[in-house]
Amino acid sequence: MTDNVTAMTSPHVPADLPTRIQHYIDGQFVDSTDGDTFDVLDPVSNETYLQAAAGKKADIDLAVEAAKRAFDDGPWPRMLPRQRSRVLHKIADIVESRDARLAELESFDSGLPISQALGQARRAAENFRFFADLIVAQADDTYKVPGRQINYVNRKPIGVAGLITPWNTPFMLESWKLGPALATGNTVVLKPAEFTPLSASLWAGIFEEAGVPAGVFNLVNGLGEDAGDALVKHPDVPLISFTGESRTGQIIFGNAAPYLKGLSMELGGKSPAVVFADADLEAAINATVFGVFSLNGERCTAGSRILVERPVYDEFVERYAAQASRVVVGYPHDPATEVGALVHPEHYEKVMSYVELGKTEGRLVAGGGRPEGFPTGNFVAPTVFADVAPDARIFQEEIFGPVVTITPFDTDEEALALANGVKYGLAAYIWTNHLKRAHNFAQAVEAGMVWLNSNNVRDLRTPFGGVKSSGLGHEGGYRSIDFYTDQQAVHITLGEVHNPTFGKAPASPRGATADAAESKDG
Ligand code: NAD
Repeated sequence: MTDNVTAMTSPHVPADLPTRIQHYIDGQFVDSTDGDTFDVLDPVSNETYLQAAAGKKADIDLAVEAAKRAFDDGPWPRMLPRQRSRVLHKIADIVESRDARLAELESFDSGLPISQALGQARRAAENFRFFADLIVAQADDTYKVPGRQINYVNRKPIGVAGLITPWNTPFMLESWKLGPALATGNTVVLKPAEFTPLSASLWAGIFEEAGVPAGVFNLVNGLGEDAGDALVKHPDVPLISFTGESRTGQIIFGNAAPYLKGLSMELGGKSPAVVFADADLEAAINATVFGVFSLNGERCTAGSRILVERPVYDEFVERYAAQASRVVVGYPHDPATEVGALVHPEHYEKVMSYVELGKTEGRLVAGGGRPEGFPTGNFVAPTVFADVAPDARIFQEEIFGPVVTITPFDTDEEALALANGVKYGLAAYIWTNHLKRAHNFAQAVEAGMVWLNSNNVRDLRTPFGGVKSSGLGHEGGYRSIDFYTDQQAVHITLGEVHNPTFGKAPASPRGATADAAESKDG
């Protein structure tokens, strides 16, 4: 069933590829203190093309020390928002001006199709621009008690933010955390994913050129259980923003607990796309094909469980399978490629094991293995299983590849039970032209984000985050500003001091009891 059209070019190797990647600490590129490195493979040849410094606790200690110094004594947290905003806009300008090179490197390192990597590079620039604008527009609350008191919010950066990111769309996801963390005046230590360290290594040069002072941005490469773990357990890192698997999120949650750190967790998903019989079927098919096969299916918000109302089920499955079979699998650098190579052989093995499992759990109607013409590399044909029961593992578990399940339903209640019947709750996509049903379903579905008659198109001001096992907290717009800042409440007495007086002299006993009854919190 692997009749996917393939874009026929040869693999591409970017010019001037580095052969080693170092850490970036306090404005200097440095090796690991113990000299250790790890191999980085490209997903088309699966050969090692560079060595990256393998950071451990000692390297994290140095990076945190530098970031803390820059926070305690450096100019960054003390700058006017407008000054920081200018630097952030400059970062966005530089990213935009290098979008083609960024996309070329990202596509080579991650296997993402070049056209989609280009979109992600531009989105990264947009993230910086957005927070550069937001920070100068930021206003804080003031509360007036006429004649008595005024209370205002003094918003402050928190300190050293630890940023831990995954390998799917690495550069864009890093920008998502770097933008608000830096805009609000924090300093950072970034630990990028070990499968894809290439694009992260470009931040240092971009930040230097834009005028970010030394020590504000620090980067430590390395494995999650070494560098990531040390960052989470470092006492001088009060904030951890993490994006990755739900299981890793649980481990980080536990490790951060003794320090009572601020945590933002963007975790896994198994999002439903619900297609009612009254929907615009053409639009629903186009959107649900894109929704699970874009970014190679390595997308947290992928609509990887499609639920279809019985009257249109057979037609949907037939048309969906035909369209999935036409999705163009190809070398990541080919502009015609729609699905490239999965990031790493380990991940490829995991996805392929689900493809094999799916053959026992559902009816294979498209894909099901390697696409023709790609005997090596991490290529998987877009794979569709129909008639999948809700207790199937391919229905319940995040596969994070180009694999989708389709399941029929008869009533709205059944559709809702199916949609909510997994541990995840990141996104949901609903296709119907029935107004009441659309809103009732949207409000009842257990998902942090819902799209009605739409693909995943997100305005940067809206909250981003999942419920259940898909996350903790919200980022996006001013919610990111809230996460990266403390809101100190300052209370000022305007009139007479309103003081319950204990131990008053007996000459004036009245008032103390009444005042104490009005006593304040805490
Ligand atoms: P992962 O959890 O394996 O790794 C993510 C990062 O955590 C990496 O940098 C890794 O080195 C680090 N890490 C691993 N163990 C750690 C530990 N014990 N302590 C500290 N850090 C540790 O995830 P992945 O495989 O890189 O990414 C794919 C996952 O990310 C999928 O589940 C996907 O749904 C999720 N994701 C979620 C969102 C979202 O916004 N909700 C976005 C993108 C990806």
